[in-house]
Amino acid sequence: MPSTGPLLDTFGRIHRSLRVSVTDRCNLRCTYCMPEEATFLSGNQLLSRKQILQVVSAGVELGLTKIRLTGGEPLLRKDLVEIVGDLTQVEGIEDLSLTTNGILLTEFAKPLFLAGLQRLTISLDTLKEDTFHRLARRDGLARVLGGIEAALEAGFRETKLNAVILKGVNEDEIVPLAAYARERNITLRFIESMPIGADPWDRGAMVSGKEIQNTLEANWGPLTAVLGQNPHAPALDFQFADGRGKIGLIMSVTRPFCGQCDRLRLTADGKLRNCLFSLEETDLRNALETPNGPESLQVCFRKSVWGKWEGHEINTSRFLKPDRTMHSIGG
Ligand code: SAM
Ligand code: SF4
Repeated sequence: MPSTGPLLDTFGRIHRSLRVSVTDRCNLRCTYCMPEEATFLSGNQLLSRKQILQVVSAGVELGLTKIRLTGGEPLLRKDLVEIVGDLTQVEGIEDLSLTTNGILLTEFAKPLFLAGLQRLTISLDTLKEDTFHRLARRDGLARVLGGIEAALEAGFRETKLNAVILKGVNEDEIVPLAAYARERNITLRFIESMPIGADPWDRGAMVSGKEIQNTLEANWGPLTAVLGQNPHAPALDFQFADGRGKIGLIMSVTRPFCGQCDRLRLTADGKLRNCLFSLEETDLRNALETPNGPESLQVCFRKSVWGKWEGHEINTSRFLKPDRTMHSIGG
């Protein structure tokens, strides 16, 4: 294992990106993400604002440049705006972003922008209230739509939308969702549903990126791949023929991008994960409590990255679902 230089794994991948979950709590219960009844971490199990800063700073010293805050629902964290403010002071972070379900954005979009958040991704799977309830097991579509408008007014460098499409639930909304994004000139990214929720994964219910592309092309004509895309980005981005708005396809299942993965994840209770689907995690608590002990945060980062596997095995019989579901890992 290298003791200097960037965060390299045994497959030659250099790691630049960290997703930081600030809470496992959520105000929705999306069926593909979490169970209806969940036991959440208690307040003293969560990394504190200071500990989040410590972990991120250690990672940035090792070459991480992209930080995304997530959850659970990150806007439920009371000191989120302060956490964003802390991270803007870390020299070396080039990209600071957040993923949210948008429910609380009307209140928090402007404070987050003023604190220094650069980019925002908002999840929007449907434009119908009954489908929203079916997917999220809660009401709230109007609040999400209001949150999106607030985000667009706040002045972020970029605001994107994420959608998960399931057969028989919201596949009829591929075109309306794309039209909604095009009207606002923002990028909508369709994520293939992955086996990381509480219920057994139904591969047959997944709508593939290719199927989504076909549906969009039947409506708007050929999509063209955007030139010069970041090879480490999970989405393949496309432009519409008329140049209005962009579409991203995140095809984790049908076109895995593990070979280019540069990403790590930090759970809200201080576990470092080298893959969304990893079965092992590195507990950072000791390193945080005894910073001069044998296992410093930087050693933990290096060990975790060095132990990373070649890729998830969703498409093989060897695949094992991790114990944690998406909401408690950080999406
Ligand atoms: N609560 C925030 C939200 O919904 O945007 C942030 C956390 S959420 C886990 C992050 C993203 O993960 C969301 O866009 C959500 O749609 C996506 N996601 C959750 N479970 C998924 C699954 N099983 N397959 C694909 N995407 C999933
Ligand atoms: Fe909550 Fe986001 Fe998971 Fe939906 S996808 S349950 S909003 S964490």
